[in-house]
Amino acid sequence: MRNRLLPILAAAATLAGSSPTLAQLSTGWKQHDMKRPLPPIVEPGEGKLPVPPPSDAIILFDGKSLDAWRSGDGGPAKWSVRDGAMEPVDGGGYAYSAQGFEDCQLHIEWAAPVPPKGKSQNRGNSGVFLQSQFEVQVLDSFDNVTYADGQAASIYGQYPPLANVSRKPGEWQSYDILFRAPQYKDDGTLLEPARMTVMHNGVFVQDNVKLLGPTSWMQHHPYTKRTGKIPIGLQDHGNPVRFRNIWVRELPSRTIEQPKDSYDPVVVKLSEPQINGLIGKYHREGGGTYEVLLKEGKLFFTLGGPLMEMIPHSATEFGLRYTAGLLEFKADEAGKAQSLRFEMGGSLSKGTRESP
Ligand code: MG
Repeated sequence: MRNRLLPILAAAATLAGSSPTLAQLSTGWKQHDMKRPLPPIVEPGEGKLPVPPPSDAIILFDGKSLDAWRSGDGGPAKWSVRDGAMEPVDGGGYAYSAQGFEDCQLHIEWAAPVPPKGKSQNRGNSGVFLQSQFEVQVLDSFDNVTYADGQAASIYGQYPPLANVSRKPGEWQSYDILFRAPQYKDDGTLLEPARMTVMHNGVFVQDNVKLLGPTSWMQHHPYTKRTGKIPIGLQDHGNPVRFRNIWVRELPSRTIEQPKDSYDPVVVKLSEPQINGLIGKYHREGGGTYEVLLKEGKLFFTLGGPLMEMIPHSATEFGLRYTAGLLEFKADEAGKAQSLRFEMGGSLSKGTRESP
């Protein structure tokens, strides 16, 4: 973030102050506390960049064209392309991907300016904003101390990285980001916060952290409902940080419902004699024992390991509540099961009652 955003942020903070959700999420640290421990410095392995995109990746920048990028007003991105990299120009503002994304995997490579200029937050500052709201900080953190929650690969203002894996200015570095968008209830309140996992130069530095809210400066802001496919933003912080080889893989939404019938097969109500006729132990062909038992009014089947709840499809055929298996019993004239066949995972086994 930068100073010129202050009036907007101050206004937002005033609104946020009246929100009861403001105090609900916390890292236990005030923002930008210089006393917050800095992560250890880790030297990355030898760089193998650029990383070739996988076949299903959407290429956002291939080193040549800014076609996939826009400026804040929706017009062409006001960044420059030079030697296979894109970088902000004076007064150009943020660059936003023309395409929006929700849950995604993002790969991006960046290099801090050479020679390094400025200190702390004024040295090689930029940022990668998922859904235009959640910043993974870009900063020249090589030999440059700043507050822990604002250094390279921090979730800005919230989580320091687990390690400082920064390369020297001018050297290409990579972020691999796994982003899960926040989920909201119908009434607009938060159901599940945004989450991020980040690798910096091949080292995990953010471990599925739950974001406190959108990125803010000086004071945390609460979530406000904004969902769907939203552009990725690259920050113009007035420093000529260079970016290249940017690609995204969209991830399936987490709100896809489980197919219901795999957990709720047709239930047939069995009579007490029918239930009693199934209970007991069965010799398993080839060795071992099957058992059918009654617990709290429900029938369970076991091979000696977990108890699997039996869901009656008929008096003699059963599914299992959480396991894709089928059980079939053969009963004698008195209705007592004498044998069973059990199908699961492509194999079939049989059992005969121990004491008929
Ligand atoms: Mg930044």
